[in-house]
Amino acid sequence: MMELNNRVAIITGGSRGIGKSIAFSLAEKGVKVVINYNSSEAQAKKVVDDLNERGFEAMAIQANVANLEDAKSLVERTVEQFGRLDIIVNNAGITRDRTFKKLKEEDWHEVINVNLNSVYNTCTASLPHLTDSDNARIINISSIIGQSGGFGQTNYSAAKAGMIGFTKSFALELARTNITVNAICPGFIETDMLGEVPEEIKEQIKAKIPKKRFGTPEEIAKAVVYLCQDGEYITGQQINVNGGLYM
Ligand code: NAP
Repeated sequence: MMELNNRVAIITGGSRGIGKSIAFSLAEKGVKVVINYNSSEAQAKKVVDDLNERGFEAMAIQANVANLEDAKSLVERTVEQFGRLDIIVNNAGITRDRTFKKLKEEDWHEVINVNLNSVYNTCTASLPHLTDSDNARIINISSIIGQSGGFGQTNYSAAKAGMIGFTKSFALELARTNITVNAICPGFIETDMLGEVPEEIKEQIKAKIPKKRFGTPEEIAKAVVYLCQDGEYITGQQINVNGGLYM
């Protein structure tokens, strides 16, 4: 088991939803956490305040991870503050759901940039620091939609499937180093993102889930903690946390 105390993690999109839960779960294990956000400054600061109140070390850093310069500055500021970087959780994500006929060019590019190009940006920026860590983790939060496809989600599905391909190739390249690379594929999880789906569609989705309920952000965070703590021999995997919806 890896001792997580005093390790340093960046969680992209840590201001709410799944990212916030991951931040709390890692902090509870003694990890110093960087809460990255793009626009929700007040929410990110509240997460940091709540963590600090509980005695955990945390800081918020604004960076649009779709932008390489922002990603570099996110990593540099993290290392300046905490002196090292051991874990990067690529969690920032957006949807712009429309059927392909209605999809605008900007819907395509925005979703690919934020969900997929961001992974290149943060990985290229953080690799030299992760190499310095004795036991590092790259964890990409993909999606069931990258595996099964989703109606009205060509852009999102392509980005999330791209994350899985990236994960496998990068894991192969890094297998002989101290860094593991894995993807987590959540099913439908109760967050603001799911809130954008109409109630009627949500009920239809729930009926199809073998476990008959949506997942919680904490259930995704548990998988992240497991990979960080006990995942030395797990690399290149897509870990499904989806209530049995995709097997
Ligand atoms: P959420 O509640 O909408 O939160 C998204 C987070 O990403 C926010 O903190 C947001 O911060 C941040 N973000 C968005 N664009 C960003 C950018 N350009 N740079 C930096 N941060 C950015 O979403 P969630 O449901 O927790 O989802 C988290 C991840 O899990 C996403 O990658 C999502 O695709 C994936 N996922 C979610 C579900 C689900 O059912 N919820 C299922 C499968 C996979 P700002 O508000 O500051 O932009």
